[in-house]
Amino acid sequence: MAGKPGSAEDRRVAVALTFDFDAESAWLGSFRVDTPSALSRGAYGANEGVPRILRLLERYQLPATFFVPGDTAERHPKETCDIAAAGHEIGHHGYLHEPPHLLEEPAERTMLEKGLDALDRIVKRRPRGYRSPAWELSKNTFRLLADYGFEYDASQLAMDRPYWVEDSGRRTGIVEVPSAWELCDSGHFLFVPAANLTGMSAASKVEEIWKGDFDGAHAEGGDVCYVLTMHPQIIGRHHRVAMLERVLRHILEHDGVWFAQMSEIADDFRRRQPPP
Ligand SMILES: [Zn+2]
Repeated sequence: MAGKPGSAEDRRVAVALTFDFDAESAWLGSFRVDTPSALSRGAYGANEGVPRILRLLERYQLPATFFVPGDTAERHPKETCDIAAAGHEIGHHGYLHEPPHLLEEPAERTMLEKGLDALDRIVKRRPRGYRSPAWELSKNTFRLLADYGFEYDASQLAMDRPYWVEDSGRRTGIVEVPSAWELCDSGHFLFVPAANLTGMSAASKVEEIWKGDFDGAHAEGGDVCYVLTMHPQIIGRHHRVAMLERVLRHILEHDGVWFAQMSEIADDFRRRQPPP
């Protein structure tokens, strides 16, 4: 039975469905492999994952946020534009999925600019939010995000609710909408023997974890948010999409669930906790 949906004002929990559309860039930029086999795993996210996810979101009329590296937008313009055309938010996710903590400041600046340029050319979108590749940040990242006008970040893990980003002991004007490894598909499922990632968990185990964390967030209420982080090349397998659907149906049975895009959660936080 469906619960009573929540709005920003009338909710127990904000739920954000986020998808990092890494495609080939994760293999090239993070795992540093360019073999045809590895790249084909990335292509699976565009060929099968994205269409399958878009169909699921449409069936339940749910909003989502896709963080898209510039390289992905350039290789897969149709899928990237399909995401935007379906009304989903597009966020910045690096250019070639380069981990920022390994970059000097000029290279990190170039990565931000190339990512912005690709999204501007291909989907005509200026992203309001940033999620760093693999949730790594350099000591320069937040200053650079402020320079380029980003309004929120989705790379930190310090709370179960939004908060103001602090940089070098000073509060910035950037809202953090935090994530969690437990609520990310990659730690559970990703199989990369060369990187000692054994993954391949049973979906039923992840279903238990994701439902359990949602139940806790809903019971607690207030300004808590529940942010799922998924990857089309990982969650896009049939049995995992089926698991995600079971989780969504579980969430939809509850009252007071506000399904929101990440920028809406950041806007809501900014309204309720304006800078002093
Ligand atoms: Zn990623």
